[in-house]
Amino acid sequence: MLHLPLARAQLDRKAELRSDSLALQKLEPSAIFYKFYDGNFFVTDGRLAKFAFADKPTGEHETYFLGVDSSGAGHFLWNQADSPSEDLRLSSLREIAGGLSAEEIGIAVQGQGLALWHNSHPRCARCGKETKSCDGGYLRRCDEGHPHHPRTDPAVIVLVKDRHDRILLGHQASWDEGRFSTFAGFVEPGESFEAAVIREVQEEAGVLVSELIYLGSQPWPFPASVMIAFEAITDNPDHAMADGTEITEIGWWSRDSLKADIDQGKLRLPPFVSVARAMINRWYGPNHREDLRSKDSWR
Ligand SMILES: [Zn+2]
Repeated sequence: MLHLPLARAQLDRKAELRSDSLALQKLEPSAIFYKFYDGNFFVTDGRLAKFAFADKPTGEHETYFLGVDSSGAGHFLWNQADSPSEDLRLSSLREIAGGLSAEEIGIAVQGQGLALWHNSHPRCARCGKETKSCDGGYLRRCDEGHPHHPRTDPAVIVLVKDRHDRILLGHQASWDEGRFSTFAGFVEPGESFEAAVIREVQEEAGVLVSELIYLGSQPWPFPASVMIAFEAITDNPDHAMADGTEITEIGWWSRDSLKADIDQGKLRLPPFVSVARAMINRWYGPNHREDLRSKDSWR
């Protein structure tokens, strides 16, 4: 299995407490709170800033229950609608992820995934009326009582290999020159993960893959995904061709050619927090730490 940097959550989510508002109120006086505003966390020294109940935002905000740590302390997120008055730095999860502990990573991906879902669901999709957060932030309901649950959109990501153990990477039209990654796409209604892998690779890279191996998954709350990682093999590497719209360049790399292109500044790999990078590193082998350094990656 892959070592995936964003899949290291440690809190016990205690889902049974979400609908028990008395139990949540009892946790609050000794709980740890985090603040989120407009897609960013409040941070101090590159870590999530921790607040006490007394630091409750004065402006409009919602409170979400994230879970309980090993000491029994509750953890909550304040999702602020009003611009913050505090003199603290706001940073995105992408900026700070590399410096967070496992517990903080879990809190950050859970908190951001929840908050972004709430922010984008102010109204009921059935009747159009305003919705309110309830059940500790795991439900929104309108006045008619229509329930809406936080969603997570599954996306498959795949490292395509040939029989000579080369890997196929693609360059998206919107990316900076030299930036390459593995292939990925959302799972469609009625589709299995495996079928999505085969379809996405065929669409974007023009090759048929088989022998799928599941490698792991990690949350990717940008804004609402979970990435499900696979490796797959193609027997016809020469058929590889960029689709020309989403993917504009495509290529096969051996370990030697990957290192050479990175050393010559021709190729930049995905960021360390991504599934794509974890798959490439695993394929490359233990020397990836020395050979594929951070200067090569983009955010
Ligand atoms: Zn409704």
